[in-house]
Amino acid sequence: MSEFHPWLYEARGQKAVAALAKNGFDALYLPSAAQAAEKVLEYVGPGAKVGFGGSMTIKSMNIAALAEQKGAIILDHNRPGLGAEEKMEILRAQLTCDVFISSANAVTLEGFLFNVDGNGNRVAALSFGPRKNIVVAGINKVVKDLDEAYERLKAYAAPLNNKRLSKPNPCTTAGYCADCALPTRICRIYHILKRKPSLSDFTVIIVGEELGF
Ligand code: SF4
Repeated sequence: MSEFHPWLYEARGQKAVAALAKNGFDALYLPSAAQAAEKVLEYVGPGAKVGFGGSMTIKSMNIAALAEQKGAIILDHNRPGLGAEEKMEILRAQLTCDVFISSANAVTLEGFLFNVDGNGNRVAALSFGPRKNIVVAGINKVVKDLDEAYERLKAYAAPLNNKRLSKPNPCTTAGYCADCALPTRICRIYHILKRKPSLSDFTVIIVGEELGF
């Protein structure tokens, strides 16, 4: 990273923050993932039920372990050893948790949040249910508009997620989305928040580092 990158990241991040705020979100820019983790943990107290949206960004920030240290109850549907029914119960419990923490596939400079899900648990929670939603997105997720958000998904986020999940979909060989029709397709629900959902308490943190994909 050059000496000029922090300037670019902040200028771009602040532009996204201003647009998000205009659209009703509580939004802020923080230069580092460590500062973002500290901010997220301000919303997590002892006994709080905390759900997660399956995010490499949040995983890389170690937020689940830090929240647990503060006495939070972690609702982790990816905990090793869970049976199918237990996993489903945790996914349902996340929809009414105190704090739901996730990232986004893209944040546009118009202040829109763009996500694509397979199961829909993340986008359901982002729409309604948890008392508090927190989205943390690295500067690599900030795009100009929804066209660029779709392109980012097809060229980058979805192939990498397919690879991470070892899915036998064409994007894992071509490195680009083929809009497949396979039963293993993970891109099923395309979700855009153009404004903060009316009944949600919602914070978006843009971080001046590249996080997740
Ligand atoms: S639609 Fe299919 S090919 Fe395209 S990214 Fe999703 S899983 Fe891969």
